[in-house]
Amino acid sequence: MNRNSITDLANPLDVLMDAAVDAIVIFDSTGKILQFNRAAQELFIYSAEEACGRNVSLLMSDPGSIGHDKYMQRYLDTGQGRLTRMVLEETGVKSDGSTFPLTLSVGEVQGDRGSRFISIIHDLSEKRAGEAKVRQLEEQLLHADRLVILGELTAGIAHEINQPLTAIAAYADAGKHLMQRSGNGSPDNIHVICEKIAEQSRRAAEVVQRLRKLVRTGNVSKARHNINEIINNTILLFDYEIKKKLLKLDFSPVDSVDILYVDDIQIQQILVNLVKNGLDAMSASGQQDRRITIRVINVGKVVDIAVQDNGPGVSQADRKHLFESFFTTKPKGVGLGLSICKNIAAAHGGNLRYESPAEGGSRFILTLPLEHIG
Ligand code: ADP
Repeated sequence: MNRNSITDLANPLDVLMDAAVDAIVIFDSTGKILQFNRAAQELFIYSAEEACGRNVSLLMSDPGSIGHDKYMQRYLDTGQGRLTRMVLEETGVKSDGSTFPLTLSVGEVQGDRGSRFISIIHDLSEKRAGEAKVRQLEEQLLHADRLVILGELTAGIAHEINQPLTAIAAYADAGKHLMQRSGNGSPDNIHVICEKIAEQSRRAAEVVQRLRKLVRTGNVSKARHNINEIINNTILLFDYEIKKKLLKLDFSPVDSVDILYVDDIQIQQILVNLVKNGLDAMSASGQQDRRITIRVINVGKVVDIAVQDNGPGVSQADRKHLFESFFTTKPKGVGLGLSICKNIAAAHGGNLRYESPAEGGSRFILTLPLEHIG
């Protein structure tokens, strides 16, 4: 067998460096590159000859991040032990000018000819691309979930749009009759009727606008929103169920102007999910008296929004699985609603939890950070 063992080789360090998966760059205290392993050559697209002798800052988009200027001077100044490591996240630059994310760890070794710095560079491109993909999938899931819920609430939504349209038609008819009866019509009455038509048209347009927002895709867009408004917009989606007496929904708007810095559609999605779940649980248990109460409790720097129903509640065994993806007890359930809601709450610096009220039923508490005005 004609295989060299490491100790047989002239420079075992070279062999180790070239076998390393991560890029390894060795430089001196002036930042001059002394060694540039094979992985570094592939990553930065420089040959060892091209890289050696040049300043290591060549490899970073922020030239001060690794070279003599900022990073190493600080490192040398700390006077720490002989081999100290620092890990930084930086942006690397390849020879073709393209940039990529990386982690950089640098350790110092004292040699005969002064300090040597060994930097190990790990390419984060794939990791970051994976994270971006997960974020994109989460967005898609959120969007799909909203569409499913909207689909399930079609009756209520149709009702909401139908109401102003019916009113517009009725007012237009009334106006027509008035004109027919009085020849030229009574200008005063016609004026009032035209105003009512305009008002109802605006209402219908608002509903459509709200729905368009709900079905929109895209990134989270946080802004300052009034807490009462978000809750009232949620309740509007259950207008049909409320009018048909399938559900009693109580909410007393809070007096203080509590402002949330949130993506209103996403918070609305959480609340719609919670109300819908309560309604599903109460419908499944066959009870006639279906009540949901939404309360806002201001607790210092955060606000708790409690959504409570008088349904069957969640069994002790199911409670610990509630927020797990794909946990469902419904015949046609997907089991993503609550886990998505919890993620949305967390992305807003808040939380979603379950409580079992002493009087029975279920209570979900959405906690969100508050921006208080006045
Ligand atoms: P899905 O609605 O598709 O089942 P969720 O994640 O929204 O998914 O809910 C998971 C499970 O949590 C439900 O299947 C149900 O068993 C339980 N659950 C959620 N909300 C309530 C509630 N208000 N009352 C009783 N059980 C509930």
